[in-house]
Amino acid sequence: MKITVVGTGYVGLVSGACFADVGIEVVCVDIDQKKIDKLKQGVMPIYEPGLEEIVVRNYESGRLKFTTDLGEAIQGSEVAFIAVGTPPGEDGSADLKYVLAVADEIGQKMSDYIVVATKSTVPVTTGKKVEQAIKVALEKRDRALDFAVASNPEFLKEGAAVEDFLKPDRIVIGVEDERAEKIMRRLYKPFQLSGERIIYMDIPSAEMTKYTANAMLATKISFMNDIANLCELVGANANMVRKGIGSDPRIGNKFIYPGVGYGGSCFPKDVKAIVRTAKQYGYNLRVLQAVEDVNDDQKHVLVKKVKKHFGEDLTGMTFAMWGLSFKPNTDDMREAPAIVMIDELRAAGAEVKAYDPIAMDEAKEVYVGDKVTYCKDAYDACIDADALLLVTEWSEFRLPSWSTLSKLLKNKVVFDGRNIYDAKYLKEEGFEHYGIGI
Ligand code: NAD
Repeated sequence: MKITVVGTGYVGLVSGACFADVGIEVVCVDIDQKKIDKLKQGVMPIYEPGLEEIVVRNYESGRLKFTTDLGEAIQGSEVAFIAVGTPPGEDGSADLKYVLAVADEIGQKMSDYIVVATKSTVPVTTGKKVEQAIKVALEKRDRALDFAVASNPEFLKEGAAVEDFLKPDRIVIGVEDERAEKIMRRLYKPFQLSGERIIYMDIPSAEMTKYTANAMLATKISFMNDIANLCELVGANANMVRKGIGSDPRIGNKFIYPGVGYGGSCFPKDVKAIVRTAKQYGYNLRVLQAVEDVNDDQKHVLVKKVKKHFGEDLTGMTFAMWGLSFKPNTDDMREAPAIVMIDELRAAGAEVKAYDPIAMDEAKEVYVGDKVTYCKDAYDACIDADALLLVTEWSEFRLPSWSTLSKLLKNKVVFDGRNIYDAKYLKEEGFEHYGIGI
């Protein structure tokens, strides 16, 4: 079986490599020549645990190929996945220009029946638009080739993407064509060794499923952050409350950790996009509007605590920041709360010394630039800093040497944006500890 994956970002590259790993012939296509050249040399464009090994192994075996030539890639492919970005447009709706450009190109270059499956997160009705773009391109060529569109939203998590793809909880496939369904069933067979995990549905339902899943997860986070803020006011401990409610299986213990707000390339843009879709249909998604508002405020909560402790004017002060990426185990800086906090601290006159195990290059090149001093390790960031801000809960920050930190920091004050430190223990060590909702 041969397939093409268009777009070699977090989703496309992981999907392509994992499909190749189960024996499928995969051609990964990207318009970014530099990315493709680097991949051929075994250099990964992103950090994702386990990815390099699986890419290099399959590239060397010849099952995984990289090219910028979509036309050549799709010859003989039974499926072409669209896995390009769908960033937010100015009004918050998902910008479909990359998805539709790929659909158009497929229409221009295809020469046989193919299933065009959208993996990108796209608003409901995009399946129809993809179909239309291919039809128009075929008409321009005066060709009447058969094809099918499918929706195959991706649920992998950055930081555990390879594992998630190889062992999915579920695979959602929106497909309305029998031949296409058979092809998709065959393609995904190797990923469901322990029972049927594919949920088939119509295309609009598959498109809605992805947004609904992300919207639900974002809701859990904002809900808990809202409750945590109240806990602080009433003198309750949000960690205790989390444990108390998480033990109820109807609620579950995941995604209810208070923190500094969600970020990344998915939740912020997908919540915006579904709210926008609803508006287009004359409906107001009130819960999700509130989810977004709470999250926007939550990104400011830690610096508010800093100002409450040190005063509004932070001129001449320096803060150590541990973690920059929006969550651990990824270099993804898109919509990371750290960006908001850095801007706020600087606006109040402070300097920031930052350390992140993986995301510093990405931060420096695109998102933060030279607004902070990048440090060689976590302790280096604390030398002569007025306080420590824990922003991303990378494992290596979980158990630092508090005795070393007490010598490096000017003040023994920790702003713990992820509640990873034991407040009682820190107090015993002479530190002031500020958490979220505790
Ligand atoms: P990304 O920005 O990392 O990668 C997109 C890639 O597509 C880039 O390499 C870009 O050069 C390439 N591209 C753009 N136009 C192209 C074209 N015409 N032809 C070929 N390549 C082209 O994006 P991502 O994070 O992988 O996300 C892709 C989609 O998957 C988005 O819709 C996103 O919402 C969705 N998604 C992302 C995740 C995630 O964790 N990142 C998870 C599930 C779903």
